[in-house]
Amino acid sequence: MPEVKYLDLKRINTCFENEFKNAFQDFLNSGWYILGKKVEDFEKDFAQFTQTQYAIGVANGLDAIILALKALEIGKGHEVIVPSNTYIATWLAVSYVGATPIPVEPNIETYNIDVTKIEGKITDKTKAIIPVNLYGQAAELDKIHLIAQKYQLYVIEDNAQAQGAMCFNKPAGAWGDINATSFYPGKNLGALGDGGAITTNRLELYDKVKVLRNYGSQKKYYNEVLGVNSRLDELQAAFLSIKLKKLEQDNQERQELAKIYDTQLQGVGDIVLPKIAQNCTSVYHIYLIRTKKREQLQAFLNEKGIGTLIHYPIPPHLQKAYSDLGYSKNDFPIAEEIANTCLSLPLFPTMSFDEQNWVIQKIKAFYHG
Ligand SMILES: *Cc1c(COP(=O)(O)O)cnc(C)c1O
Repeated sequence: MPEVKYLDLKRINTCFENEFKNAFQDFLNSGWYILGKKVEDFEKDFAQFTQTQYAIGVANGLDAIILALKALEIGKGHEVIVPSNTYIATWLAVSYVGATPIPVEPNIETYNIDVTKIEGKITDKTKAIIPVNLYGQAAELDKIHLIAQKYQLYVIEDNAQAQGAMCFNKPAGAWGDINATSFYPGKNLGALGDGGAITTNRLELYDKVKVLRNYGSQKKYYNEVLGVNSRLDELQAAFLSIKLKKLEQDNQERQELAKIYDTQLQGVGDIVLPKIAQNCTSVYHIYLIRTKKREQLQAFLNEKGIGTLIHYPIPPHLQKAYSDLGYSKNDFPIAEEIANTCLSLPLFPTMSFDEQNWVIQKIKAFYHG
């Protein structure tokens, strides 16, 4: 058996080779490179996919969160509730606008923000909650929406990992006042480079972000606000429109593979399998297991040519970059427990059942000899 990659992006993307080539030819012939028809078309497609009124393409996922915060005029002196267990980008966006990230622990079963712990962290400085739909699973967005209503807070979904997931049949990326996503190549909807988007149902926020992403200017050389340069490329937009058509099928493939892991790894060693909250779905951006023998299992699989990753080895509060916030070990024990025991298994569209079976057999061999 040859090696099984953690994620085979080359295989995923070469499926679209002919369509990509046609799109490139079309793009080259158009002679238009920045903010043209291809970005506009993709924005329409993506808004429709997310069941929102508006989508705005931006340069990457981190910028999407930053621009969402800026559009809501969140900055210095404000607090924003974030999960203690997330990729650092969620926190960085808050810090970048001058606000303070206020961490809330995840639920140990779903790994998404524990909705019962949010209210205890709300102060008169709190402006917003950023739930992250982590590992592909929609957070309990209905409950978060109710808390936000009660305290008059904004909700910004960090939906970088869960394009296509649902909460009560309403898509992730449609629940917040304004929502951010990423098209980093490894995401479920991945570009062939960097990209990101904002989704919203609110016209005034849409207008604001459109201006902010393009130098704060609506009319060329007339600058209304202090904007940035954060635009989605025409070429990436063209590729994304092509890949978006297959996203639902890709996500179903991921769900099918996840189901097989769920069944086959049940009761194997000390493995803890992922759990999905009631009324939420996951599109399995990451299939994450937990085990006390994480290092040994990873080394064993690596030796057999099976790729795995750790999402993420150090939670944001323990990163050197956040030393000024003054947190120390055991401040967020659940996030730390996940960081110390998690292992992400290979799972991606186009992964074959034979490849997956090889992974499963090797995991069983590790525990049972
Ligand atoms: C990938 C990711 C981001 C950032 O996206 P980029 O496009 O890499 O800037 C933000 N939040 C989460 C949870 C992510 O996984």
